[in-house]
Amino acid sequence: MNKPVLLVVDDDPQVLAAVRRDLRSRYREHYTVMSAGSGQEALDTARELKSRGDSLAMLISDQRMPGMLGNEVLARSRELYPLARRVLLTAYADIEAAVKAINEAHLDHYLSKPWDPPEERLFPVIDDLLDAWQAESLPEAKGLRLIGHQWSPRSHAIKDFLASSLVPYRWLDVERDPDAKALLDAAGVGGDGLPALVFEDGSVLGNPEPRQVAERLGRSLSAAYDVYDLVIVGAGPAGLAAAVYGASEGLRTLLLDRHAPGGQAGSSARIENYLGFPAGVSGSELTRRALTQAQRLGAEFLAPLEVTGVSIDAGYKRLALSDGRELVTRTMLAAAGMLYREHPALGIAEHTGAGVYYGAAVTEAPAFGGRRVLVVGGGNSAGQGAMYLARYAQEVQVAVHRESLRETMSPYLIEQIEKTPNIRLRPRTEVERVEGEGRVERVVLKSLDDGMCREEEIDALFVFIGARPRSDWLPPEVLRDAKGFVLTGRDLMAAEAYPRVWKEPREPLTLETSVPGVFAAGDVRAGAMNRVASAVGEGSMVVRLAHEYLALT
Ligand SMILES: Cc1cc2nc3c(=O)[nH]c(=O)nc-3n(C[C@H](O)[C@H](O)[C@H](O)COP(=O)(O)OP(=O)(O)OC[C@H]3O[C@@H](n4cnc5c(N)ncnc54)[C@H](O)[C@@H]3O)c2cc1C
Repeated sequence: MNKPVLLVVDDDPQVLAAVRRDLRSRYREHYTVMSAGSGQEALDTARELKSRGDSLAMLISDQRMPGMLGNEVLARSRELYPLARRVLLTAYADIEAAVKAINEAHLDHYLSKPWDPPEERLFPVIDDLLDAWQAESLPEAKGLRLIGHQWSPRSHAIKDFLASSLVPYRWLDVERDPDAKALLDAAGVGGDGLPALVFEDGSVLGNPEPRQVAERLGRSLSAAYDVYDLVIVGAGPAGLAAAVYGASEGLRTLLLDRHAPGGQAGSSARIENYLGFPAGVSGSELTRRALTQAQRLGAEFLAPLEVTGVSIDAGYKRLALSDGRELVTRTMLAAAGMLYREHPALGIAEHTGAGVYYGAAVTEAPAFGGRRVLVVGGGNSAGQGAMYLARYAQEVQVAVHRESLRETMSPYLIEQIEKTPNIRLRPRTEVERVEGEGRVERVVLKSLDDGMCREEEIDALFVFIGARPRSDWLPPEVLRDAKGFVLTGRDLMAAEAYPRVWKEPREPLTLETSVPGVFAAGDVRAGAMNRVASAVGEGSMVVRLAHEYLALT
């Protein structure tokens, strides 16, 4: 297999030579650096690479070129290499073009010329982007492969687990992929062993549970210590932030998640509004960075491991785990977030994982290349999902109850959706029924205006219709509001049951629940802002509050 390619485009031969020289000096061991003198030549080169089966890791293009501008080259290259990182080379005056390219070309970064010294201004950026590319893509011929039926909920569960756990793998559909059968025959796996995971050394895990996959990948599932200062339940943005601060501020910190790191944010195709990422950041990329940071600073991370109950024992918190074991900690953070609300239409439950997916647009989108899919819901997460699916699917319909998206979706997403020709909005529409033999084949849609039903041939439904808090594992002493969101700080003091429950001679700390030393942050908390940044902010604050609590005890 050839090395992945870094392709540089500039019509100025001197600049082209300079970028090529700098890139070669650092990356030539693992990448081939190629160059093109125009946008057209770059696209021809990319097409040729594709036809040879080579990987393109990055395309770096100058903005101002005669014939084709840089942002157009980058946008057009997406059809050939959707995962390649895209960088625009700009002069100071081109910043506006770069900002525009963030939306149109899904630009990952813009670099202002000149970039001397490259050790400071070029290589850190390229290193970072190549790390992200490596984490997402996998050379075709090696690495982990998952073989199964596209319409099997078991296949979906393992795909979802691998993707959320940031493990790159290649998906092979037994019915569509010619390599799948040969691999199964070689491994001696029959139909009842599906889905099957084939590892790089040829060994196979047939029809595994996520836990077995984690163990086989060498992930630890047992805690290193008997007692912790801080145990964080849930590794979404709030939990990850608490782990970073907890570990860096000297607390013995354990982070665990029932599924994988990232939480809801991990399933987001592109978070556009998180501070410091002008080109947006995918949920998996943000998770990868945050988890690496937390672990580097000394936090322990265990997944998949669920906390099923909590009891309070003379100030210590005893956490019951899904594997039957127990953890003891002095402080605890409930950062368990929210869970997608199930759609009540007929046929949805039996097709879940077989064409009906909750928020799994990123995991499943590639499997729906050339097919017709339906997104249900009109919020930002539905909008992001639709945009991501539109990269692969032939047609993406978006069914919403309201007349338009205006009241439920951010304007930047509405604009992107309007500009995407294969997305079709279905206003005032409800899903009445889902039908199909072992997989979704048809959906019956009902008009909320005249009650008329229409049958549509649809291959998959992606449901984004809100969420409910995940707080049922907490003990009754932790007060919640009527919807199940955990009460903290001032909200807690306003609750009717507060005087009966709170026995401390002090007021509860901000973000402290009705059980001293048990904190809540992020979406599970009553009054949460439901944003990545606010979850991160609250998770970070908890560490300071945990210190305060520990100093009192
Ligand atoms: C598709 C999508 C796109 C979004 N896009 C944006 C965006 O662009 N910008 C933005 O600001 N916000 C966005 N949001 C909202 C944002 O993701 C959430 O507000 C944020 O993730 C909340 O973080 P959290 O840590 O509180 O909880 P979550 O992210 O919900 O994480 C909670 C974690 O806790 C784990 N858990 C739950 N119960 C247990 C248990 N008993 N034991 C162990 N683990 C448990 C779960 O598995 C989960 O991983 C988006 C949400 C979605 C779904």
